[in-house]
Amino acid sequence: MEFKTIIEPFKIHSVAPIAMTTEVQREQYIKSVGFNLFSLHSDDVLIDLLTDSGTGAMSRNQWAAIQHGDESYAGSPSWLIFEAAVKNLFPYEHVIPTHQGRAAEKILFTAIGGSGKVIPSNTHFDTTRANIEYSKAEAVDLVIPEGRDPSSLHPFKGNMDVVELEKFINETGVAHIPAVMMTITNNSGGGQPVSLANLKAVSAICKKYGIPFFLDACRFAENAWFIREREEGQSERDVIEIVREIASLADGMTMSAKKDPLGNIGGWLAMNDEALASVCRNLLILTEGFPTYGGLAGRDLEALAVGLTEVVSHDYLRYRIRSTAYLGNALAEMGIPVVQPIGGHAVYIDAKAFLPHIPPLQYPGQSLAIELYKVGGVRGCEIGTVMFGRKPDGSEVPAAMELVRLAIPRRTYTQSHIDYVIEVCAEVANRASQFRGYKIVKEPAALRHFTSQFAPL
Ligand SMILES: *Cc1c(COP(=O)(O)O)cnc(C)c1O
Repeated sequence: MEFKTIIEPFKIHSVAPIAMTTEVQREQYIKSVGFNLFSLHSDDVLIDLLTDSGTGAMSRNQWAAIQHGDESYAGSPSWLIFEAAVKNLFPYEHVIPTHQGRAAEKILFTAIGGSGKVIPSNTHFDTTRANIEYSKAEAVDLVIPEGRDPSSLHPFKGNMDVVELEKFINETGVAHIPAVMMTITNNSGGGQPVSLANLKAVSAICKKYGIPFFLDACRFAENAWFIREREEGQSERDVIEIVREIASLADGMTMSAKKDPLGNIGGWLAMNDEALASVCRNLLILTEGFPTYGGLAGRDLEALAVGLTEVVSHDYLRYRIRSTAYLGNALAEMGIPVVQPIGGHAVYIDAKAFLPHIPPLQYPGQSLAIELYKVGGVRGCEIGTVMFGRKPDGSEVPAAMELVRLAIPRRTYTQSHIDYVIEVCAEVANRASQFRGYKIVKEPAALRHFTSQFAPL
């Protein structure tokens, strides 16, 4: 008998209070910070779905591992425990610890990027793109067309368009392509997975042309679970086996340990190429630290080693993916437009369809995110024209999509919290026709979504 209720496969071990607030108070709080959700005190948020990055709960075994941490500068046993845990899943020759994912990206692209270089991916995450561009190289997205269509039900919308990839390699020239990357799951594309067959096809193309293949593997376990659930011939396999097969298809990886490794901080860079690893370790020493700790404390390395064993648990992954779908499906059933199919770590509300009376340059996503906060204290994140609309030449154009992302921190909220979020969304849907657009009254030079101030129209 499979029961309908998704019980969390853990019980609560330590609690943090949620301060209850009223709608009147929240109207005051959001107004006082210029209607920017990033500027709120998190104590004034009831359910914080701003991001799943570093916001998860650690297990008692992780907290025990924290106590076991050894802070020797060089050659700490905590480093050896971490390195073994990484290699157990991703058996690359060289593992280089960093303080988070973008530090690994900065080192990698300092080593292999530079002007005249182009790096294709299914979809580069924004820090990956920024680090590639900062090195003066170019970042190119070659996701399948279904990956750009919010209503397509393709099971692997994160897949690379392999025909386009091969065409791109032939037109650009191998000498200009220092690596091909794949983001699993495809974060910027809605947390959509990549199939094993697609990873094999990309790997084969990379081998054929002699181009190194790197994974941006932040949500490798969620991706492997989707492969097990959705891909033919995979349903009997252990997730660990699928992860190791994915690793074997690539030459290296970048990682943010704030995602699937179940840490609050951390990351790494790994590869087989000895000469490249040596360049990267020298860069690591300049900005992060000695190669046996990177930017991390020994205790962090130990917590991540334990997290890596917990995240591949089938009970955990079944719960994780089902509980994200539970929120997404509930919203879809009440007629709220969401990106389909529901991804691994977040639900994306289509604000353009939800608030059709608000034009893109009046920021429907921002309006919706503000109302979710005012009505129920739920904090999501606008991913639309506020985030992407300002072009380098100063002009403002509507983004391709107007989304509000509700990202689910790992092992942090219970089903009753999520039922509350669903009720808040229902109330917001009732009031939707009354919501108004916003204008920006104060804007920084770059990355405006973090600090801009808004006023209602
Ligand atoms: C979060 C993330 C990164 C960057 O990692 P940080 O730890 O935030 O620096 C890179 N790629 C993807 C796909 C991510 O989700």
